[in-house]
Amino acid sequence: MDESLARLVQLQEYDLIVREQRILNPRGAPSKDLTAMLGRIEGLRGQLPTDVVGRYDRFVQGDKIAVVKVVAGQCQGCFFRLPTGLAAQAKANAGFVNCPNCGRFLYC
Ligand SMILES: [Zn+2]
Repeated sequence: MDESLARLVQLQEYDLIVREQRILNPRGAPSKDLTAMLGRIEGLRGQLPTDVVGRYDRFVQGDKIAVVKVVAGQCQGCFFRLPTGLAAQAKANAGFVNCPNCGRFLYC
């Protein structure tokens, strides 16, 4: 998988863990693990292109998943059937590919 795409997938995984922790423990002081996770998130964000981070944030702010898998040629965010060429591009995991219907980042 392309390094930048792998970073974006990792960023989302960390963000989801942090969101879950904040839901489970809304008033608690951030734990050492959570603080370390936030540091890793900042590091990953700094290594991604700003337009990609901006687009990612728009989904996250809407409480949506920004990076989704392609399964059987379908975006798993909106279940749009991707054109064959685009599905093949996403399957290659060679860079950023967005769903033409919902705009989410795709990987396989
Ligand atoms: Zn989609």
